[in-house]
Amino acid sequence: RPSATAATASVWADWPSTDTWRRQESVGLILDGPHTSATRSEDRKKVTKEIEEENAGAVFDDSEEEEEDKRAEEGTGKAKGDGKSSSKSEKAPSIIVDICRSSLQPQDSKPRVTEEELGKDDLKESRVGDSEVERGEGPGVEGDAHQASKSEEVKAEVDEEGKEAESAVKEFIIEASPPPLAPFDHRIVTPKPHQITSYYTINRDEVLGGGRFGQVHKCLENSSGLVLAAKIIKARSQKEKDVVRNEVQVMNQLNHANLIQLYAAYESRYDIILVMEYVEGGELFDRIIDENYNLTELDTVLFIRQICEGLQYMHKMYILHLDLKPENILCVSRATNKIKIIDFGLARRYKPREKLRVNFGTPEFLAPEVINYEFVSFPTDMWSLGVITYMLLSGLSPFLGDDDNETLNNILACQWNFEEVEFTDISDEAKEFITLLLVKSKSWRMSATESLRHPWLSDRSLHYRLNQKKNKCHSTHVPSP
Ligand code: ADP
Repeated sequence: RPSATAATASVWADWPSTDTWRRQESVGLILDGPHTSATRSEDRKKVTKEIEEENAGAVFDDSEEEEEDKRAEEGTGKAKGDGKSSSKSEKAPSIIVDICRSSLQPQDSKPRVTEEELGKDDLKESRVGDSEVERGEGPGVEGDAHQASKSEEVKAEVDEEGKEAESAVKEFIIEASPPPLAPFDHRIVTPKPHQITSYYTINRDEVLGGGRFGQVHKCLENSSGLVLAAKIIKARSQKEKDVVRNEVQVMNQLNHANLIQLYAAYESRYDIILVMEYVEGGELFDRIIDENYNLTELDTVLFIRQICEGLQYMHKMYILHLDLKPENILCVSRATNKIKIIDFGLARRYKPREKLRVNFGTPEFLAPEVINYEFVSFPTDMWSLGVITYMLLSGLSPFLGDDDNETLNNILACQWNFEEVEFTDISDEAKEFITLLLVKSKSWRMSATESLRHPWLSDRSLHYRLNQKKNKCHSTHVPSP
């Protein structure tokens, strides 16, 4: 199974651009895929059937939607949406957005720590163990009475240690403070028709990242000296501009430490520039593939917890992100495990009765309902969270096939497992967490609130054990062939 690096490279290279990703083509893509297994062909049949049903007008399942609404409420505490009055046969407008998935430059795959090195570590550990045993039973065997009193002492010590361990567990709280807030108050931004260069110095040489439609640069507000990030988005037509204005609208509603904050926006004839809070720790993706970065399971708990906090807030605000992936999670700094979610380019408000369908997304992270052109909802983001968790823990992409067809078919068949050696040391709680997210039927997935309550993210004694164990994630393992 290829690593995340290889995965990303191969998929990005082949992913269709803007207008090619039409419904019929997508169906063709799935149906024409390699006939790898019975399950897959079964599933292909299912896709065809579902699409036929959709074409026949049987597109909206009330019970499923109500279930989703309940989940939204559970996550939000809000009352049900106003759209409840509209009848099933009413056709709410479909929103189909075609957005080109262009590539970030795929990274060269990096070598991983070899088995030899792993062996050395194991050896070191067992040596320490041996020497401790030797000390305990070492020379100087004394009389019986002395032995008895010694064993009592030992017992008392063990009891003491037990108590200490217990209180250590009780006291053990993982460092879970939120990341630093943006260096400015939340503000409602309206794109200004001015020249950005009158107010900011954009460092054109320093590219922080490449996006779908342009690049992100470091920049400086001349009046305040604030260091910010400027995302330059090419937008010529009204339609393109509306897509960017939607991103501004969404960001205007989101005020949370785990969500990158918008500072200003400038609109010109050919582009719209979003000026945002700047973070310098790089993409979470880079930590997955960096063999020098010692990612432990507890680190992953901290990352996923913050993503969940951000998602819980977004879902409370009735907003779906729809493009969650490790590239869209930025680390605040190299030294801490604090993160912020970025890229609200595909985010939108969830409307219970709206026939919202999306036909974009990086194949590896697409939820089954997105591939099937069904309604996207809060659980769609939770699927992506499951994929990210799997990737962080193992360095592997759960659904990645040899090509896009296979990847899509694997997703539709919900075909994934923990069989790889990378999962050997991973806790059962982590595996259960992923299992409760990578569920084909969206109504059965954990919500963000439920995820935060799951033992993997909330059980202190588990975190204590993970901290003691310091079990490393994938980067200490040799990649499977
Ligand atoms: P797009 O929507 O075009 O994909 P993104 O918002 O995902 O663009 O940004 C592209 C890349 O630029 C990100 O993956 C990240 O590496 C970098 N980047 C984006 N925003 C920031 C920021 N606020 N601070 C630092 N780097 C950023």
